[in-house]
Order: sequence, then structure tokens, then C-alpha cells
Amino acid sequence: MSRYPLAVVTGGLGFIGSHMVDLLLEKGYEVRVIDNLSGGHERNLAHHASNKHLNIEKTDICDLEPNSSAFKGVKYVFHLAGIGDIVPSIDNPLAYMHTNVQGTIRVLEASRFASVQKFVYAASSSCYGLAATPTREDHPIEPMYPYALSKYQGEQAGFHWQKVYGLPVNSICIFNAYGTRVRTTGVYGAVFGVFFKQKLANKPFTVVGDGTQSRDFIYVSDIAKSFLAAAETDITGERFNVGAGNPQSINRLVELIGGEVLYLPKRPGEPDCTWADIEKITSKLNWKPTIGFEDGVSKMIAEIDNWRDAPLWDTESIKTATKTWFQFMSPEKH
Ligand code: UDP
Repeated sequence: MSRYPLAVVTGGLGFIGSHMVDLLLEKGYEVRVIDNLSGGHERNLAHHASNKHLNIEKTDICDLEPNSSAFKGVKYVFHLAGIGDIVPSIDNPLAYMHTNVQGTIRVLEASRFASVQKFVYAASSSCYGLAATPTREDHPIEPMYPYALSKYQGEQAGFHWQKVYGLPVNSICIFNAYGTRVRTTGVYGAVFGVFFKQKLANKPFTVVGDGTQSRDFIYVSDIAKSFLAAAETDITGERFNVGAGNPQSINRLVELIGGEVLYLPKRPGEPDCTWADIEKITSKLNWKPTIGFEDGVSKMIAEIDNWRDAPLWDTESIKTATKTWFQFMSPEKH
């Protein structure tokens, strides 16, 4: 038995998961990562390569058995594994429901069998749909596309496991996560990766709509702290919104990175503004955002070389990647 408290981080090689691992190691935890390397990458934790308190298991959450040895003796489970890209979910709903719902249930079962003290779920603010702002946790739920539905159903599964089996569960509802190690490869989406690669290639930024739409961007290390607070509290069975509570426009992001702009048609089904009401988490978990938008963007620009191998998106490739999205999300679709 380890002398250190044990934590499991699913998706620990991913963007938010790897920052969760950083925080837990810093706080004296022994960490077991479960990751299938689909979205994550080993380089995200390469800086801990010689750390004896970190163990990485390359397993798919969908293959976890209830008696998985990785969960033995574990105090907290941080469930960050899942498929995170919004746009392709419209093309591939089966994969999203399989991983984000069934996969979550696998992690819940393993957590229940190991009698873990807290399971913390990574929920998505997309569950609120085109929400009134600032958005509170009791806002009506209205998933607009399969990604949002899958993340919401995974959360509901978590609360169900608490109700039926007594597994202590909290959920962190993330608004727009950004920060170093935000995805550098793969499918279209996640504005930072798109813009950084365009900047490196001296190409214009593909701004959707007129760029006045705003997002509640929250820096990734602040998110990791909110997960730990949700684990360490005695409170259970709650969802907490996590955002900076201070939305920033896409035009402001362009201004901070600096470069030419190319305007693309507005995407149907996208909110003009996301804005977390963070009163609940600040008052109940004593958490608050610490990294301002300018500082967060500067930290990323300092590592802009990491996006050198990222795909370069332009008007044509974005049009192709969002074709089905426009088809199904347009208001006149049915
Ligand atoms: N966005 C943009 N150009 C792009 C990709 C995204 O202007 O090439 C905008 C998008 O319209 C949205 C914001 O950036 O307002 C954040 O998009 P992202 O896909 O990162 O996150 P979302 O808010 O859609 O979850």
C-alpha cells in the first residue's frame, strides 16, 4: 500500500488531464493515468518521465473491468477521458455515445468496486444549449448536438451511481478550456489550435461570424484546481460551473495574437456568448480563477512552436469539415 494518497486520472495524457496530473503530483499524490492515446499524447507528460509516483496505463476506458487493478486503493478518480471535439460529433454520434456514456459507466463501475472516496466528472457547458447568461447550474438543459448529449448523459450516469450505489460524485461543468497543450492535431475545432497554426504559417485567422461572439475562456491550471477542490470537499452530488466569469470576444483573441482576419459564415447552433455564473463554486468550494485572459494567451504564445505540426485550416477545408454541421444544425433543417 502506498504512503501517498492515490488518484486515477482518466484521459491523463490529454490537455486538461495532463494539467490535472501536474497538480496532483505537486500536491503529493501518487497518480495512475488511464489513457488510450486517442486524443492525448505521451509528450504531454514527458516532463514527468522519471517520476516514480506516476504510472501510465495505455487502456481504453471502454475496456475497463469493474475489478480493474488500476483502481485498487484509490482515493479520488478524475474522469477526463472522452471524445472532446464538438463539430465531428454530428457525423459520428455512435462513437461519442460509446466512449462518453458507456465508457463513463465503465469508470464508474471500477470506482464503485474500489470504494473510491470521490469521483469527479468533467462535464461540458454545452449541456445548456443557447443559454441565458450568466448561466447558473440550474439553467434548463438543452443539448444541441451529440457531443453535448453524450457529456450530459455521462454526468447523469455519475449522479445515478451516487443515488443507487452511494458512490460520492461531483461534476465540474467546464466552459471554454484553454491553455498550453490544447490539442495540436486532428479534426476541426478548438479555436486556439486553429489560430496558432495560422499564425505560424502567416495565414489569416478564420474568424467565424463577425468575431463579436464571446466565450468564457478558463485557463487549464485553474480548471485542475477546481477538480481537486471538488474531490476534497465533503459536498457530494453537485454540479459546479467553472469559467472565468468574464467572457472574451474572438476579436479580442485575434488582437492578442495579432494578424490578418478572414471572415467565415456564422455557424448555426453556436451561442453568441457563453458566460458561467461561478457564484456556486466560489462560495461552496472556495475556488476562484487566478489567470487572466491576457496572461493565459501569453503563456500559450510562449509555446507556440508546439502547434507547428498542427493541421492548417483554411476556408475550403473548414467548409468541408463543417458541411454536415450546417446540414443538420440550420434552423430550417426539418
Ligand atoms: N472560432 C472561430 N474560428 C475558427 C474556430 C472557432 O472564429 O476557426 C470561434 C467559434 O465560432 C467560437 C469560438 O471560436 O465562437 C470558440 O470555438 P471552439 O470551437 O474553440 O469552442 P466552442 O465554444 O465552439 O466550444
